[in-house]
Amino acid sequence: MADRIQMKNPIAELDGDEMTRVLWALVKEKLLLPHIGLKTEYYDLGIMNREATGDAVTSESAEAIRRLGVGVKCATITSNAARKAEYGLKNLFPSPNGTIRAILDGTVFRKPITVSCVKPSVSTWKKPIVIGRHAYGDQYKASEMLIPGAGKVEIVYTPADGSGEKRITLAEMKESGIVQGVHNLDESIKNFARSCFLYALGEKLPVWFATKDTVSKIYDGRFKELFNQVYETEFREKCAAAGLDYFYTLIDDAAARMVKSSGGFLWACQNYDGDVMSDLIASAAGSVAMMTSVLVSPSGAVEYEAAHGTVQQHYYRWQKGEKTSTNPIALIFAWTGALTKRAELDNTPPLAAFAKRLEEATLGAVEEGEMTGDLMRLADPAPAKALNSWEFIGAVKKRLEA
Ligand code: NAP
Ligand code: MG
Repeated sequence: MADRIQMKNPIAELDGDEMTRVLWALVKEKLLLPHIGLKTEYYDLGIMNREATGDAVTSESAEAIRRLGVGVKCATITSNAARKAEYGLKNLFPSPNGTIRAILDGTVFRKPITVSCVKPSVSTWKKPIVIGRHAYGDQYKASEMLIPGAGKVEIVYTPADGSGEKRITLAEMKESGIVQGVHNLDESIKNFARSCFLYALGEKLPVWFATKDTVSKIYDGRFKELFNQVYETEFREKCAAAGLDYFYTLIDDAAARMVKSSGGFLWACQNYDGDVMSDLIASAAGSVAMMTSVLVSPSGAVEYEAAHGTVQQHYYRWQKGEKTSTNPIALIFAWTGALTKRAELDNTPPLAAFAKRLEEATLGAVEEGEMTGDLMRLADPAPAKALNSWEFIGAVKKRLEA
């Protein structure tokens, strides 16, 4: 193995749970280690190690991503009551992805991986649409109240410096009902805009951003204003030099244009819009197993992962001895994304070339009819039989080594 491609600096490697943990080890053994002198700082985010470390391993892994500039993450269980019983946990820790996002203050970009035998539901789409979702605030950090009967609901701002408070009437309730208070932060919105333009420049994509500022003049109006300010002051020249446009419109107009477009742009979305649109795009583009996810921090640090979860049901079948047909493509692309970024930062073209060959070998297998069951159900023409994960990774390995 003396001729393996060498790495200059390590990647933060975050291992995870269940079926994706099984595939993680398999992808490393069969597709990475024979070809590269893989350098990683390994963090085990498997549920039992998060429990054993009081979840410290999660924050440590996020710090490592920040320090090293690049991370790759396996899917992890978000613990809940059922998982507590299943694994005999003492604690319920927050979602690891939430913890990592909070530390890196990042924006998540989701991009479908496309193959010619799986046609998107929208016939005009020729290139993938990438969703950049602002992952802070709005409905996701809302305070809500059930209002039992008639009365006045107000919003009160009490400045920390003791200066005069501000109050507005939210509603004069005539009867019982509901209220919700949401917020966002200027700096978070600006960092969201920065992450979007940084990602778009890296991927050479034009940027769309949309809100409902005609209705929400102050709240969405602020989003529009700050996003535009970041573009004008920090990115207009860079985008122009790269031949990339920035386009702002209303959210309903953006949705209507999106389904008539040929794709090939980054759609920056507020938190709720991004939640809905990323699932819509994933499902219209093909399969959840073909969606990659990248967290881009305004500092420039990036974390790559598959968008799907730990594929729990397949794991239970694997534990009973079945060789499941779980699709490892998004997981392979998480690795190739991280290796490509590492190569760019370290200026090591052979590493970037290897990542590209691995992506080509992976998609080449599918294009030639070797694929897992989830894709077989969507493919036209459909192959005669589906491969299990081990056979599929073998088919990729054969092409990689040809
Ligand atoms: P999931 O793991 O994404 O799986 C849901 C279903 O989607 C699977 O049962 C399977 O359908 C299909 N699927 C997903 N990935 C696939 C793949 N690679 N190949 C083939 N089919 C695939 O979601 P979940 O079952 O709701 O969540 C399981 C665990 O993952 C939960 O504990 C959750 O907390 C965690 N999770 C983690 C992340 C993350 O770390 N980023 C994200 C989401 C969820 P069929 O059974 O029909 O084949
Ligand atoms: Mg969602």
